[in-house]
Amino acid sequence: MSLTANDAMIEIRPSAHPASAEERAARMTNPGFGRIFTDHMVVVPYVEGKGWGKGVLKAYGPIEMDPAASVLHYGQAIFEGFKAYKQPDGSIASFRPDANSRRFNASAARLAMPELPEEIFIGAAKALISQDKAWVPGAVGESLYMRPLMIATEAALGVRPSNEYLFVLLASPSGAYFPAGVKPVTVWISDDYVRAAPGGTGFAKCAGNYAASLVAQRQAKEEGCDQVVWLDAIQREYIEEMGGMNIFFVYQEKGETVVVTPELTGTLLPGITRDSLLQLAREQGFRAEERKISVAEWKSAIAEGRMTEAFACGTAAVITPVGHVKSRRGNWDINKGETGPVAAKLREALLNLQHGLAPDTHGWMTKI
Ligand code: PMP
Repeated sequence: MSLTANDAMIEIRPSAHPASAEERAARMTNPGFGRIFTDHMVVVPYVEGKGWGKGVLKAYGPIEMDPAASVLHYGQAIFEGFKAYKQPDGSIASFRPDANSRRFNASAARLAMPELPEEIFIGAAKALISQDKAWVPGAVGESLYMRPLMIATEAALGVRPSNEYLFVLLASPSGAYFPAGVKPVTVWISDDYVRAAPGGTGFAKCAGNYAASLVAQRQAKEEGCDQVVWLDAIQREYIEEMGGMNIFFVYQEKGETVVVTPELTGTLLPGITRDSLLQLAREQGFRAEERKISVAEWKSAIAEGRMTEAFACGTAAVITPVGHVKSRRGNWDINKGETGPVAAKLREALLNLQHGLAPDTHGWMTKI
């Protein structure tokens, strides 16, 4: 991709008080996920009839909003998440931001919000990452997490699409998700709550989906689990995805390793990690399938030894093995609760690509 941060599109107004090198180093020690933010952010306003205005890169800080801003009442809010990685030559590259831009626009369309041109999405990312490049951590597993969002800002209490919006991009250094090594998670199959129904917003990355999921996530914690597994809304039988990750299953069929993930039904988020892993799995010689898989099949395939692994995937944690499953329908372990070889192999292949340790044969890395 050849777009450059475009000064004509984004005005650069550097912070008068950026963190000193010592402050930055202190804050970047064990940054965890999403708790510290870089010196700057980008904001781009939109007004119906006029379109997107000039973007500004400025000091990171609070956004002023009218209390009648429609996002605060009716929830027109969408977001994305992707990462920028230090490359071996010291340069920085982000992973598939064009795919995030497309998904952002799919979310915008579903929420009756304006689409944002890809040049602005990528241009904002390039401008912010270039400005705050000292905040990009270097070790494998570490990255600068980019969080674009769009909210409805018009002060109007009528229930209708807002006439004004704000696009915001912020950046957060993120540490290795599993500093002590990858640890399989325990999941809770949610029979009490539904994440998304046909015709709803399941495929969109809108704030409301996450608000509605929190009570189920709390229940999962109470059941001693790390994450929720969502089922389809109609039959309450087919596995859809997890709280913030998609899910894969690994089967051994007649000597062949088959990697299966639930097909995109419109009710689950089309994960960019999911899409990347389907391609990488095929390149690694596995068969990769997108199809429906039921809880009953999950349970019986484990009992019969046909299923050898399950793992979750997403931008934040890359690949997380699923070691234990709990539900009202019974509990079972997967691969004795340990990381399996297919999850480990795919995880390494993806991390190597992202960190520039393997050739970018897919054109997935966008240089900053
Ligand atoms: N499902 C949900 C509900 C998510 O929030 C995410 C994180 N964006 C994913 C799946 C994984 O998507 P991606 O691989 O694009 O991060």
